[in-house]
Amino acid sequence: MDKNYDDVRQNLIAMLEELDDRLTTITQDVRHADEDVEKDSEEQATQNENNDVQDYLGNSARVEIAAIKQAIVRIDNGNYDICQTCGEAINPERLKVVPYLAQCIKCASLAEKG
Ligand SMILES: [Zn+2]
Repeated sequence: MDKNYDDVRQNLIAMLEELDDRLTTITQDVRHADEDVEKDSEEQATQNENNDVQDYLGNSARVEIAAIKQAIVRIDNGNYDICQTCGEAINPERLKVVPYLAQCIKCASLAEKG
C-alpha cells in the first residue's frame, strides 16, 4: 500500500512559494499604506478598511502556508492521507481538490459547526 506522493509534494512546494510571494506583496502594501498618514479622517477610515482586508489576506495566507508545511511533513512521515483528528483515511478525491487537507470530511464538518 505504499503510495508515491512526490508529485503532490512538488505541487505543495510550488503553492508554498506562490503564497510566500503573495504574502510579501501584501506586507509591502501594508507598509506603504502606513506611510501615507497625512489624510483627512474620511480617507483615513478607508485606509484602515484596506488595512483590515490586507490583514485578513495576510492571515489567511499564513494559515494556508502552515497547513501546506504540515502536509509536506506528513508526506515525509508517511501519514499524508491520514486524518489528524480521528486517524481515518482522508478521501483521495478531496486531497486532489485541496492537497493540504489535514482532516477527513467528518472531522472537517464537525470543526465547521464548531
Ligand atoms: Zn477524521
